[in-house]
Amino acid sequence: MTKPAQVMVITPHPDDAEYGVAGTVARWAREGKEIIYVVCTNGDKGTSDVKLKPDELTKIREREQLAAAKLLGVREVIFLHHPDQSLEDTPEFRKEIVRLIRMYKPETVVTADPYRRYVWHRDHRITGQVTLDAIFPYARDHLSYPDLLEEGLYPHRVKEVLLWASEDVNYRSDITDTFDLKIAALCCHESQAGHYPSPELERHLRQRHRMMAEGKGFELAEAFHRVEILW
Ligand SMILES: [Zn+2]
Repeated sequence: MTKPAQVMVITPHPDDAEYGVAGTVARWAREGKEIIYVVCTNGDKGTSDVKLKPDELTKIREREQLAAAKLLGVREVIFLHHPDQSLEDTPEFRKEIVRLIRMYKPETVVTADPYRRYVWHRDHRITGQVTLDAIFPYARDHLSYPDLLEEGLYPHRVKEVLLWASEDVNYRSDITDTFDLKIAALCCHESQAGHYPSPELERHLRQRHRMMAEGKGFELAEAFHRVEILW
């Protein structure tokens, strides 16, 4: 039987979770929470290097993701290996997520907000939407997948969803003490170096997370739309 985890982070590409929730993940890990990453795509289109082959990039990005997760204290990283820019809202993808939710029984699921408007990566939109649908009602209802029941994967109720990159922020998480770890985790994604860590990026992110904490009693925050599931 799979050991449950309190938190499941479902990320479209390797590195999105570091941008979205790494500071909070590091804090949760320090508090003793068990965290699982689910990486939906292999990120094999995330380069401007014309010489780099997609399968080489896949290997590099998985390695980078594992290094970042280890640094943050994530217990396990599950790669679903879908090609980059290929996610669709299909029954198969939804069931894949339901299966993992029923296996690991997280209380909290974190993913990308699917309702960000206009320019938003399709993989982000689809990951967020499919995850929300998987949580409710598909993971919850025992008749949704009789075959999963036969495998011993029983219904599970997720209690809370946090959506990063939301235009409708209603929850701010204190990352003051783990901001440095977030930066270090982002630094693990070396293949993305074009838009990654430099003193300038660190300054930019510090400013951004300071703004996210505005009005709170702490200095730096990650911001989310939080949904509490009561039924
Ligand atoms: Zn992404």
